[in-house]
Amino acid sequence: MSNFLKDRVNKGVLGLKPYEPGKPIEETEKEIGLENVIKLASNENPIGMSPRALKVISSMDDLNRYPDGNASAFKNKVASVFNVKSSMVTVGNGSNDIIEFIAKCFLSNGDTAIYSKHGFAIYPLAIKASGAEPIKVDALDWGHDLNAMISSIQDTTKVIFIASPNNPTGTILSVEKIKDFLTKIPSNIVVLIDQAYFEYIEDESYKVPFSLIEEFPNLIISRSFSKAHGLAAFRLGFSVSSEEIADYLNRVRQPFNANSLALAAGIEAIDDEEHISASVEINREGLQNIKKKFRELGFDFIESFGNFISFDSKSDSDKSFDFFLKKGIILRSLKVYEMPNHLRVSIGTKEEMQQFIITLEEYARSIKE
Ligand SMILES: *Cc1c(COP(=O)(O)O)cnc(C)c1O
Repeated sequence: MSNFLKDRVNKGVLGLKPYEPGKPIEETEKEIGLENVIKLASNENPIGMSPRALKVISSMDDLNRYPDGNASAFKNKVASVFNVKSSMVTVGNGSNDIIEFIAKCFLSNGDTAIYSKHGFAIYPLAIKASGAEPIKVDALDWGHDLNAMISSIQDTTKVIFIASPNNPTGTILSVEKIKDFLTKIPSNIVVLIDQAYFEYIEDESYKVPFSLIEEFPNLIISRSFSKAHGLAAFRLGFSVSSEEIADYLNRVRQPFNANSLALAAGIEAIDDEEHISASVEINREGLQNIKKKFRELGFDFIESFGNFISFDSKSDSDKSFDFFLKKGIILRSLKVYEMPNHLRVSIGTKEEMQQFIITLEEYARSIKE
């Protein structure tokens, strides 16, 4: 490949590597010559999508028409379910889209934005692509060190990205801590609290309420439909913020970023309590069993509040990843997150977790030999 545009491409883009998603099932089956490969690599909902959502999209016509460019019905639904104004809602093609809007609106050359070591990979990607400089703050017990984040604020700092629960560590911050943090930072720094795993949070004191925005107008809270709602393929997420911030975000949003099927599915899935609680239930049980097994076999893990858990595989994670892959289980190596021995496993169905546990036992024996 010739590099004749190297001095022309945006500087921030030069330093980027494409985001590496979890390996797809079909491709892996061909690659290793196995059938029934299990994917526990992308924190997807193992029981599938909301049945209510499936029903509504099955009978949709008008697909020759563009989507509602304002996503009004969807935003009104979000507004009524969560008791916010629809003018505070911004729709994303996945909540990753929201992260990009924030970078586009608030960051450019000469600016800095803060995120945590072991934090979600899309933050540094969006920051660098905007031309701004990322400031990576050391973690505390694998999680966000809010005091260290405050100390690392510079005059140039415009945005702080925080995931709670964080992916891939599963660590979480209490609302109390987040409030305290917001009180201590300059009120003109935009803060994203990314709650992609919101529905899995069982303790109220960790659920960041949208009402906090009244007190802190620099706060943006995002949610995703890809995890508990099981709509990963549709790409749908949203944020709630002040009307002013929502107005800015909306200016950089492509008019049809969320498609008609996604919007219709989202309207149903958002309050499909039956499906959400079934998903949370499976996850709770799966997490409990896997933690028990990790303890039994002597693997250190990071306490997780999402639908996944990361553990120290006690060897190079490219190797341990390969061990599981050859047995037909796709996990996630966390090398790119500066966790060279850790693997992340998404919580699957009961059967998938049984398969994982059998393979984990084999793996434990293999590293003892
Ligand atoms: C999965 C995930 C998202 C984004 O998911 P979308 O599919 O784009 O909605 C955002 N933040 C974190 C921390 C995630 O793990």
